[in-house]
Formats: sequence, structure tokens, C-alpha cells
Amino acid sequence: MTTTAYIALGANLGDPVDTLLDAVEALRPLSATQDVALSRFYQTAPVEAEGPDYINAVARFPTVLSATELLTELQRIEHEHGRIRSVKNAPRTLDLDLLLFGSEQIQTEALTVPHPRMHERAFVLRPLADLQPNLTLKQGRLSDLLVAVSHQPIAVLGGDEEEGDDDYAQ
Ligand code: ADP
Ligand code: MG
Repeated sequence: MTTTAYIALGANLGDPVDTLLDAVEALRPLSATQDVALSRFYQTAPVEAEGPDYINAVARFPTVLSATELLTELQRIEHEHGRIRSVKNAPRTLDLDLLLFGSEQIQTEALTVPHPRMHERAFVLRPLADLQPNLTLKQGRLSDLLVAVSHQPIAVLGGDEEEGDDDYAQ
């Protein structure tokens, strides 16, 4: 049996684009098909944190792992990329969060799924919409949640416009 996992990738130190591309390669063996669907890359200013802009993306793949096994693998990949865990929200070379694991709801000390803050973060919702625009979360439809975060500055990497405000107004 496979479960569809959605992973948020973020990096803001070193060469974040390179780091994210490496991380996608590291995710590939966790996929039941060795294949990973990847959103566009986005650039955002850090939220409640210092440091250079973040590069964010979302990956999706089917996996035979359990959510707990997957988290362990994500943490291994984070460490292999030299993540610096000094204080909460500190700049880091790589952050991998498990956003969704099929329709499972998980609440343990180590793991909360769906990720509890994903619905309020443009840097998660925008790339998620690249992969699955018609998705519905517990907090509402992705298209509606995007409207609610449309004031958060975020740009498609390689795009020529800074986006925000009424981009998602109907
Ligand atoms: P954040 O990603 O919120 O900025 P951290 O990556 O430092 O912060 O948080 C890591 C901790 O969060 C880990 O110890 C992990 O057990 C816990 N955690 C809880 N739920 C999740 C999840 N859905 N994905 C990733 N880590 C999670
Ligand atoms: Mg994390």
C-alpha cells in the first residue's frame, strides 16, 4: 500500500536553490516510483526570523513508508545537508516538513500532520497549488486559503513580478 506524501522544502543559507535540488534527489529513493513531483520554486522573506530570503518548494510522491519512518528520513536528509539547529526559526540550510500524509491525522510528540501552520503560509500554499490546485484542507479550499494569504510577499523564482495583494482576488 502506498500513501501520497507532500513535503515542504525550505532553505535560506548557502546556495538554497542547489540545496533544494539536492534534497529532491535525496527524496527520490523514498518514493515508491523513484519519482517526485515538484512545484515551482518561490522566494520569500523569512517569517518571524532573521536572515536572507528563503527558497521554498513542495514535493509530492507516493511512499510505502509510515509517516514516522518518513519523518526520520526527512531529518536524516536535513542533517546530511548540515542543518544548523540553534534556536527556533534560526536560518537553516534545509528544512523539510511533512505537510500531508494521505488523509491521515497524526498528533504525537514528534509529529503533527497535517502540518498545523501550513494553511496560513503563502510559501507553502503557493507551491502546493502548483501540484494540486483543487486541494481542500481542514481549514478550507486551497483557492480560498490563498486569498487569505495574498498579502504575504512571495515571488516565483525566475518570474519577473513581485506578487501579492489582489493576485488571488476573484
Ligand atoms: P519548523 O519546521 O516548524 O520551523 P523545526 O523543523 O525546527 O521547526 O521543527 C522540527 C520538529 O518539529 C521536529 O522535532 C519534529 O519532530 C517536529 N514536527 C512536528 N510535526 C512535524 C511535521 N509535520 N513535519 C516535520 N516536523 C514536524
Ligand atoms: Mg521543520
